[in-house]
Amino acid sequence: MRSIAEALASMLPAFSPLGEEEVHLTKASGRYLSHEVRARFDSPSFDNSAMDGYAVRATDVELASAAKAVKLEVRGESRAGGPLPPPLEPGVACRIFTGAPMPVGADAVVVQEDSEREGDRVLIREASPKANHVRARGSDVSSGAVILRPGDRLWPGEIGLLASQNIDRVQVYRRPEVALLSTGDELRALGEELEPGAIVNSNVYVLTEMLRALGVIPVPLPAASDNLREIEAALRSALEADVVITMGGVSVGAYDFVHEAFANLGIEPGFWKVRIKPGKPLTFALYQGKPVIGVPGNPISAMVTFEVLIAPCLRKMLGDPEPHPQPVVARLRDPYHRRPGRVEIARAIATREGDEIVVALHEHQGSGSLPSFVGVNALVTLPADRAELVAGECVEAILWGPGLRAKHSPFDGMA
Ligand code: AMP
Ligand code: MG
Repeated sequence: MRSIAEALASMLPAFSPLGEEEVHLTKASGRYLSHEVRARFDSPSFDNSAMDGYAVRATDVELASAAKAVKLEVRGESRAGGPLPPPLEPGVACRIFTGAPMPVGADAVVVQEDSEREGDRVLIREASPKANHVRARGSDVSSGAVILRPGDRLWPGEIGLLASQNIDRVQVYRRPEVALLSTGDELRALGEELEPGAIVNSNVYVLTEMLRALGVIPVPLPAASDNLREIEAALRSALEADVVITMGGVSVGAYDFVHEAFANLGIEPGFWKVRIKPGKPLTFALYQGKPVIGVPGNPISAMVTFEVLIAPCLRKMLGDPEPHPQPVVARLRDPYHRRPGRVEIARAIATREGDEIVVALHEHQGSGSLPSFVGVNALVTLPADRAELVAGECVEAILWGPGLRAKHSPFDGMA
């Protein structure tokens, strides 16, 4: 049986970016760039003021002090979006506002608070050295410089940078379509009548959202019954997607037909079973190079194997250069007794306490218990060989879902 790392190492090579497409910037959030992006122009594109005040020649105010003000005549005004100000003559100041172009000849700004207006003159009470409070042309970005690289994900900050460069279209990796095929006679769609023995196909709703959150395109398919022919037919249409995830039917039960269906369709087995708890029966196969993954039907097994094994592969396919889970080090709040053998991925609530993250494992760790996922913000990795974990020991935790909570925050008490 493979370890989690070995399973990932077998799976990842099958997930490469699919190619690129050009999208409008307003549709690019969350996407991964496939090309580097260079600045189209200097930013700022003109020297401008960082403050409200007066544009001056630094040499004209170098002797100004609180005790001995320098008096300058005020001529003209420069405001953001206004007409260009006239060139500044020696011994003269120009009224200026934040973001407004500096007049030719001015090389410093005196902030309003260090000055006093007297009719058409201004008293300046503090020197302002050359370049002071001036945002120089190109000081932020110079024309032609690389501003973003292939593999960078577009978060709001990156979108802002691209927008500021008037870049309205970007080259990004294509988003794979991922088919979700549930199997099980007992499964019903949301809202359908539940006769005795039937259950709602909750997994398809969970995995659809997990796929959406990653940025791939979920293709939820109608559930197939535990019937070989039906599963084969459903798999044929699932194989139109770029990746197929089946749910359920991968164990050794008499009604587990997924492996047989794979074999009949020429879907080649990669591996079956991983030393992970929950989720051991996970299966990985390839159809003409296309990844086909079978996750067990238990809701928690499906979520955990998705997060630990499938999400990294899909991130790689989306163009993420660092697709592996990025666990943080955390301390166990309580002791934990377990059966050794497989790495256990336990549901927990993580809280930041001072400079540490403390994780409280959920008391129910069964693989079918959906209430045990409510509010969970960390998946804690418990080593395969350990039976007794002690309170306060360090473990690795993948932060998940609602994100980390802080016991005390600098924002506490802020209105
Ligand atoms: P299986 O992996 O098919 O043996 O299913 C294991 C358990 O998970 C059984 O209790 C199933 O009823 C349940 N199960 C299977 N598929 C789903 C699903 N799509 N949604 C919710 N529960 C499921
Ligand atoms: Mg089943």
